Amino acid sequence: MTGVKAEGVVNALTVDLEDWYQGLEIDPEDWGRYEDRLAIGTLRLLDLLAEAGVRATFFVLGYAAERAPDLVREIQARGHELGTHGYGHRFVYRLGPEGFRADLKRSLEVLAKVGSGPIRGHRAPYFSITSGAEWAFEVLQECSITFDSSVFPVKNYRYGIPDSPRWIHDVGDGLVEFPLPTYRLGKRNIPIAGGAYFRIFPYTFTRFGLSEINSTGHAAAFYIHPWELDPGHPRLSVARRIRIPHYWNLKATEGRLRRLMREFRFASMGEVLGLDA
Ligand SMILES: [Zn+2]
Repeated sequence: MTGVKAEGVVNALTVDLEDWYQGLEIDPEDWGRYEDRLAIGTLRLLDLLAEAGVRATFFVLGYAAERAPDLVREIQARGHELGTHGYGHRFVYRLGPEGFRADLKRSLEVLAKVGSGPIRGHRAPYFSITSGAEWAFEVLQECSITFDSSVFPVKNYRYGIPDSPRWIHDVGDGLVEFPLPTYRLGKRNIPIAGGAYFRIFPYTFTRFGLSEINSTGHAAAFYIHPWELDPGHPRLSVARRIRIPHYWNLKATEGRLRRLMREFRFASMGEVLGLDA
């Protein structure tokens, strides 16, 4: 018995491609002070995906792509799908429509220069398309994005739309939202999969939550970062609310990810959405 794999629902495996210091809410002006280690976690991740025979979607941060164009080309050469994670890892709701448009366009220009071809998918930094920032969907459409995976239907101090649909849904003409995965407990949605949740909760909770989603015939969007496979990256004394989830149980990621890919079916988000048929 290998989990629920036999049930056949294919989930999306997604990677937010950014370096360890880029999601810590540090002023981007200071990013130059930190050691670039993007390749360490990314190459480990590419090997794990190859071992499991899984094709993933990499939402690439423009700033990171500018510094590591060959790594982005390597990801694509290994058969994975490229999407955008914006340029400067800013909160969408703080940028406002004009700032978001500029940041998104800059990221798409960097990816085009790398040779990505057309980019169809987007994930906002910090899942920061929230209530009141739905204008972001119009900006995405303007930039020919056809799927977004930025809405976490939970209540979190810095993100979430708690009453947003938990499943894939249309958010505009030709734009689809693939929300992050949750478990429904009473009237609340609990975030279950990806990033820090994958390391903080016991593996069995992720497994249970994803099985629940798949048992209803729905696909889940699992997410991970390369730095989660690089437990030796430097420790910074940022605010406790950021530091604890970032560094918690990093050593567990590799083993858990291997197991997850054995127990569930995964493909790129474009494949799950039927865009590559
Ligand atoms: Zn990010």
